[in-house]
Amino acid sequence: MKYISHYPQQLQDQIQHLIDNDKLGIYLEKKYPKKHSIKTDKTLYSYVMDLKNEYLKKFQISKVLYDGKINDVSQSLGTHTFISRVQGGKLKAKNIIKVATIFKDVPEEFLKMIVVHELAHFKEKEHNKAFYKFCEHMQKDYHQVEFDVRVYLLHLDILQKRKI
Ligand SMILES: [Zn+2]
Repeated sequence: MKYISHYPQQLQDQIQHLIDNDKLGIYLEKKYPKKHSIKTDKTLYSYVMDLKNEYLKKFQISKVLYDGKINDVSQSLGTHTFISRVQGGKLKAKNIIKVATIFKDVPEEFLKMIVVHELAHFKEKEHNKAFYKFCEHMQKDYHQVEFDVRVYLLHLDILQKRKI
């Protein structure tokens, strides 16, 4: 199954069962009934800064934006670019966070998961134990939400296929 192929078979079966019974949409809506209202790059920026200031005070972020060019969301749900360059003899670091545009219209938990993931990369470049531990520190049910975000992407794919 796309997006969730690395999860336990039993979990995949449960989702397949929901799809077969046309209940995946209802399942997601019940679990996450409310969508967020962070629709612009400006509001996204302050949303990210609030989280950043709570957990990663000393880091700087120069840019935050929704990016419609992140097409292959299965590869990356958001991106975090760390650019270091020498400017006037000083090493300047720039952190840029981009969030795929589809996350404009989702429950807040989903947006938070993406932002938390990218923020955690400030500390850990790899997806290792320390990385996920820090994700969970910022969002308690991070693992569950990441799974549900993947399920949501699957749901969008199914809706898309129906339209064709
Ligand atoms: Zn990552």
